[in-house]
Amino acid sequence: MTAQTVQQGDLVTVIGLEVHVQLETDTKIFCGCSTEPTDEPNENVCPVCLGLPGALPVLNEGAVEAAVKIGKAIDADIPEETRFHRKNYYYPDLPKNFQITQYDEPICADGELEISVEGDRRTVAIERAHLEEDPGSLQHVGGGGGIDTAEYTLVDYNRAGTPLMEIVTAPDFRSPDEVRAFLAELEEVLEYLGVFDAERDGSLRIDANLSIIPEEEIDGDAEEIDGDALEAANRTEVKNISSHKGAQKALAYEETRQKNAIQRGRAVEQETRHWDESRGITVSMRSKEEEKDYRYFEEADLPPLQVSGWKAEIAIPELPRARRRRFQEEYGLSEEAASKLTSTKQVADFYEDVAGEFDPDLAATWVADNLLGELNYRDMEITEMEGRLEEVTRLVELVAEDEITAKNARETVLRSMLDDGASPDEIVEEEGLGKTDEDEVQQAVVEAIDENPGAVEDYESGDDGAINFLVGQVMQKTGGSADPGDVNQLLRAELEG
Ligand SMILES: [Zn+2]
Repeated sequence: MTAQTVQQGDLVTVIGLEVHVQLETDTKIFCGCSTEPTDEPNENVCPVCLGLPGALPVLNEGAVEAAVKIGKAIDADIPEETRFHRKNYYYPDLPKNFQITQYDEPICADGELEISVEGDRRTVAIERAHLEEDPGSLQHVGGGGGIDTAEYTLVDYNRAGTPLMEIVTAPDFRSPDEVRAFLAELEEVLEYLGVFDAERDGSLRIDANLSIIPEEEIDGDAEEIDGDALEAANRTEVKNISSHKGAQKALAYEETRQKNAIQRGRAVEQETRHWDESRGITVSMRSKEEEKDYRYFEEADLPPLQVSGWKAEIAIPELPRARRRRFQEEYGLSEEAASKLTSTKQVADFYEDVAGEFDPDLAATWVADNLLGELNYRDMEITEMEGRLEEVTRLVELVAEDEITAKNARETVLRSMLDDGASPDEIVEEEGLGKTDEDEVQQAVVEAIDENPGAVEDYESGDDGAINFLVGQVMQKTGGSADPGDVNQLLRAELEG
């Protein structure tokens, strides 16, 4: 991003993120329990994820693979060896009274991700990304469901032990819009890597630190915030954010709240606040714990993990940013079209299939505008088109070969495919949308007239019966597939014209 001009007396917003990503593995990170969501509480549990005495953790290979993929995608340093630590705290969602996580030797460090905000490109530094286990979930019952008012609380350990990757950025964001762009890009990358399911509840959980710093306390460029200035400012941590849109709203609210306080000469308290999505506000939760409260110590039940072998073996696919650029160069697409067409890996793969068979521009119109537009209107995802994308390709073929009009294809066939589940050929047949027959009949009409000047002369001199002879000729030429009434009209139109 180009350095923003900061006026004297301006307040600079500084935001850093901790993003918890649920990794898409079949089983939990330290036991063989399923991670499949279920409505039955405490169904997917065992002695390990219940923290029963004597149960030992065994690290899930799939979680390490996913972490290495993420590390490669964000250009992080992946060390030869990584370690696990215990983060100690007492809370009912954590049956062992400690969480197995990583501390000073995380699996990924010093990464980055490029984002684009209104055409400005910039790079956000990612300080670290580490593996850890998810705690269980609590359900507060009665008294309005609040933690402080509930009659009692139920604990569900189905989620306990789900693998998480915690991604920690530098305080590099200067606006809620940048945060939104970063999270959207990160979600795309994770989805491309196949390590993340955005549709799953709680798959992305974001904590954001936000500080407002008077410009005069910053030495030099507002882009490079001086450590002392950041240390001096009180920051709030906003929790309970679950999407890139939510992050933008929560941080815009918090930014305004803090700026208003400062402008009125009030101190901003250092605290943790909860984003209340339904009310659109942040509310104070509790004062922030210091890191030392957790008494981290090494997890003796898990040996240090040698990661170098994995690093060499694991390959990652072409990522959204690279694919967007290639789409622009290879298919001549605009940046906007390329962005839409790379929004998920499945969309991008499908576009490339269609563009490979037909004209890339026609393919772009069909995939980006028509298909995604109609899906969006129905609140559907392309993943719900599993097994039916060939039908969409067939529809594009009908348009490319000029067998139906683009308007009919879009407005009748595609919509009816999505709403009624019929195939494009069935719909074209049923609705009589085929163009070829009409063209063929017209062609036969012209031929019949050219080849029979005598009958034409008779017709023109008032012998109306001569038209029947010409209709017969056209019927012969079209193998009897034309409608005699239509042929009659077409002939008259041609002769009168
Ligand atoms: Zn288990």
